[in-house]
Amino acid sequence: MTSVAGILRVAIAAPVSTPFDYSAPVGLDGPTPRPGQRVLVPFGRGRRVGIIIAMPTASPVPAERLKPVMAILDDEPLLTENDLGFLLWAADYYRYPLGEALFSALPTRLRRAVPTGSGGRQGWRLTSQGRAGCPETLARAPKQAQVWERLRGGSGAVPSSELTADLGDCSAALRALARRGWVEPCRIAPCAVAGERSLADHGPVLNPEQRAAVEQVRAAFGRFQPFLLDGVTASGKTEVYIRLLDDLLAAGGQALVLVPEIGLTPQLGRRLAARLNAALVVLHSGLPDAEREEGWRRAVRGEAGVLLGTRSAVLVPLPRLGLVIVDEEHDLSFKQQEGFRYSGRDLAVRRAQLAGCPIVLGSATPSLETLANVRSGRYRRLPLAQRAGGAGSPTVGLVDIRAQALQAGLSPRLLECIERELTADNQVLLFLNRRGFAPLLTCHDCGWISGCPRCDARLTLHRSSHQLRCHHCGLVRVPPVRCPHCGGPDLRALGQGTERIEEMLSRRFPGLPVARVDRDSTRRRGDLTDLLNAARRGEFRILLGTQMLTKGHHFPGVTLVGVLDADSGLFGTDYRAPERMAQLLIQVMGRAGRAERPGHVLIQTRHPDHPFLRVLLRDGYPAFAEAALAERRTAALPPFSHQVLIRAEASEAALAYDFLRAAARAAAVPFRDQVVLWGPASAPMERRAGRWRAQLLVQSPRRASLRGFLDHWIPVLKGLPTPARVRWAIDVDPQDM
Ligand code: ADP
Ligand code: ZN
Ligand code: ZN
Repeated sequence: MTSVAGILRVAIAAPVSTPFDYSAPVGLDGPTPRPGQRVLVPFGRGRRVGIIIAMPTASPVPAERLKPVMAILDDEPLLTENDLGFLLWAADYYRYPLGEALFSALPTRLRRAVPTGSGGRQGWRLTSQGRAGCPETLARAPKQAQVWERLRGGSGAVPSSELTADLGDCSAALRALARRGWVEPCRIAPCAVAGERSLADHGPVLNPEQRAAVEQVRAAFGRFQPFLLDGVTASGKTEVYIRLLDDLLAAGGQALVLVPEIGLTPQLGRRLAARLNAALVVLHSGLPDAEREEGWRRAVRGEAGVLLGTRSAVLVPLPRLGLVIVDEEHDLSFKQQEGFRYSGRDLAVRRAQLAGCPIVLGSATPSLETLANVRSGRYRRLPLAQRAGGAGSPTVGLVDIRAQALQAGLSPRLLECIERELTADNQVLLFLNRRGFAPLLTCHDCGWISGCPRCDARLTLHRSSHQLRCHHCGLVRVPPVRCPHCGGPDLRALGQGTERIEEMLSRRFPGLPVARVDRDSTRRRGDLTDLLNAARRGEFRILLGTQMLTKGHHFPGVTLVGVLDADSGLFGTDYRAPERMAQLLIQVMGRAGRAERPGHVLIQTRHPDHPFLRVLLRDGYPAFAEAALAERRTAALPPFSHQVLIRAEASEAALAYDFLRAAARAAAVPFRDQVVLWGPASAPMERRAGRWRAQLLVQSPRRASLRGFLDHWIPVLKGLPTPARVRWAIDVDPQDM
């Protein structure tokens, strides 16, 4: 046997930023090495799994020092050159270790050295030598002769399972034939699975705006063009997606559909499955590993017509990608907030660009970034200004709750309106973005409050589970009976969470079940879907919940939406706070009156004259967004500049600050004059889970300058003498700061 000469450039599943070169494995037994296959390699004193990203003709490492890879784990590449290109770009853009980024695109199990085929069923076929073989030579090996006959009779390859079914166990015979060089193992691709459309359901007749939207996107099939489907809530955006998907599938393409939350996948999944004649695969982190891996395989093999998933689905290879849809594109959940800090939406745009296909970003409250892209002409806007199906827009009223006698945070006026709707047999939706019973416990005698010992945060009282909990670090305590500070007996729960409101409502409206939807009431898989389905069927008359309840869901029976506390977002320090608050309010309001019955919205506030609320409610989201964009431009904030955040944390505040100060001092590199450094400053929650957190912001009006600066600066940062207790990370296009 001869050894194959050849250099394999491998990205290792480890936090290292560069690939490493190896030589091809010794011996010819295994699969031929190709980019996109996983390999097992010696690394340091151990071994690691990696992915071949290139097979260069020369290496900076001298030939005699190249170590051979130990095994090639996949018969066929798991990632195509295109997939590799996309993922390498993403790793570079977000400054994330190459191998880690690549493995984010694969099922978890494949991070280990488990071999795979290319998917499909295992089978056997004759080699050319085997086809030319003379059966007489097998006279004394009847089983081998049988297998040979069977393979010669089959068209091409025969699945192993079929061989066993026809001939019994023939593994010994196959091994013997393989030694002769007459047969070889192979993979047999399964056929695509069709959808389950009841062909009668063609959906409603599109209105002119919907039709125009569909036509414009369809005209862009086969080339890159981003669109903003700017449609008010319930304007029929999903209908537009369905028509586009139908057209694309008919043309043989695959589509990627991203939604911000796991909770949105069942509803949309059902709707798509009922209407599309194609196999639908759903992928998100809430599925068991085995199910995710199976879905991943069906997507990668091209069997899935539509891949519907949360942000990580953007990384899944799709060989015939022809359309990308990102629903609720403004949603913060598209940005991963730790590790590989990518934006699923932004990567989706890049992905569409590399695939040469259109992408539709849909929202009733588009992000300012996307609106800026519309203005600059990069994205094309497709407006849907009317609610579809004849539903009118809801009326909106502000309720000034200053000096009002509130019951668990509800004003007399809101309670009256709830009562009226319930009497008329309608459903009511109440929104409060705070779970638990009360956001803090305090001592009436000395003023002690239930702070988290590990975070700059309060412990929330959860009464049903009898716990004080920190929503930031997960700390759990039994609530004290007496004040830990003064020993006084008068401890009081201050403020409202969803649990407390639920309790008040069931006292006030006995016999009327309340659906409480928050992270506590939906811990187990399936809970959320069950609650939402029951709510849609009208089994609950009052729906109460956090953002989880309001995002994108459709409840035809809801006529009144109550926003219990609009003030929490009015005075945030983050420059994005008003944008987030506006999006949240408009989305919540959009849950009202989505069917025939007209909707009302009541918003409780102590600041009814706040200019933000006035503009938003009087002139609507577009006017708000225009004003907000003008402010961002004046302040040179994104999207009119570009940002990168260096986050550092340590067991002592000084260590994190020292690191960031050293980082700032080390910034004397090319492009320094084209960026501005702000900080170091403390993170919004300076202490979290017992660690001190600080950050350094880098900003530039030009993305290219920022990237040029990072290219020089990051290697310097990596070389800084950093105490082991300091952890730091790079966040490109940070969303919370
Ligand atoms: P969005 O995705 O914008 O929230 P949907 O597509 O869910 O809106 O549509 C809202 C409701 O209006 C749904 O019940 C849908 O079936 C209905 N609908 C959508 N388009 C039309 C149309 N052209 N004619 C009648 N009803 C429609
Ligand atoms: Zn006290
Ligand atoms: Zn905490």
